[in-house]
Amino acid sequence: MTQPHRNRVGLQALTDYAPEKTRSALELLLAPLGGMGRFVKPGQRVLLKPNLLAGKSADQAVTTHPEIVRAVAQMVQDAGGSVTLGDSPGIGGAASVARKCGIMTVVEELGIQFNPFDDAVKIHPQGRTFQELEVARALLEADVVINLPKLKTHQMMGLTCAVKNMFGAIVGLRKPRLHLQAGSDKALFALMLLELCEQLQPALTIVDAVVGMEGDGPGSGDTVQIGVLIAGENPLSVDRIAAEIVGMHPQQIWTLKLALQTKREGAKLETIEIVGESVAALKIDGFKMARQTDINGRMPGFMQRLLKQALTARPVPDHALCTRCAICVKHCPPAVMSISQQQLKIDYKSCIRCFCCQELCPQGALFTQQGSLLKLAQIFKTLKW
Ligand code: SF4
Ligand code: SF4
Repeated sequence: MTQPHRNRVGLQALTDYAPEKTRSALELLLAPLGGMGRFVKPGQRVLLKPNLLAGKSADQAVTTHPEIVRAVAQMVQDAGGSVTLGDSPGIGGAASVARKCGIMTVVEELGIQFNPFDDAVKIHPQGRTFQELEVARALLEADVVINLPKLKTHQMMGLTCAVKNMFGAIVGLRKPRLHLQAGSDKALFALMLLELCEQLQPALTIVDAVVGMEGDGPGSGDTVQIGVLIAGENPLSVDRIAAEIVGMHPQQIWTLKLALQTKREGAKLETIEIVGESVAALKIDGFKMARQTDINGRMPGFMQRLLKQALTARPVPDHALCTRCAICVKHCPPAVMSISQQQLKIDYKSCIRCFCCQELCPQGALFTQQGSLLKLAQIFKTLKW
């Protein structure tokens, strides 16, 4: 049999998470990629890395659906692999998040080893911009890593899918440190995500895009029926096709934009081979993107600093919804949030617009307010001036 192309991406329709349908759809999805047996050999330790962002129920589409996890784990077990599962959630312990979203039930029923990412190891990628990263030991010790992202909008990066899901490899509060290192430079943060994903090299990515998230993702957006499973070896190619399915331009997704600029393999559409169903048959219309948070163009640094409030969007608390739990205060990378006189306060001059606060707020109590020039730029764009 000829070896499948690294930039080959499989597509398969799936309208809901009924267990039998999910398993059959996954078999169909992986068949043109060589089947699960091509990625997993008997006796190998296989780590599943779902999206365990926060402890929400499966129907809120914040986390990878438990039935996807179940079917993939069963396929790995059938191929003779032993399954472990782990992640480092944005908030809360991994076990409690896995319990709330239903994944822990699958872990217990299938006898999967649960491995919360709480032990970090320093790695020193050669010739990279980020020369030291601290990643979960479990990922390095596995023989095979299978990446199981959920397709969602992302206020800062545009979209979270294959590449961004590997950010969960960074253990706990080391995540805000990396945000701080990149500051408000989205390109630099995207570069870190690309380098991290390249370093960890998941053998296979399977995207849960059956029900995804649109609007204010990845934590507080709206659920959206997409009805698709996407799989491939190269996370960039998978993301590129995911963007096509929801009608996003690669320039709207920072990791893809950077990958194209730096000529990374598998980011260009022409280099990707699509197998299974076609993009045309599965593409959806009207997908609501995350609100734009800055003017995605070239402007001298001093102008950007001078006009920061007008050119960017910022998180604004809804005091009626805010319970003053202080989760956002604890995780804000530059520590510019505080609670005083019973109200959440943000120092916008030092805010780096990473939107971690919005991503992690369990109440959806932070909305995005666009600056005046950013709003104007969007109106012009809509009018195609
Ligand atoms: S905005 Fe959200 S996370 Fe922050 S204190 Fe209020 S409820 Fe908690
Ligand atoms: S206030 Fe929110 S957007 Fe601003 S730096 Fe803190 S976490 Fe990031």
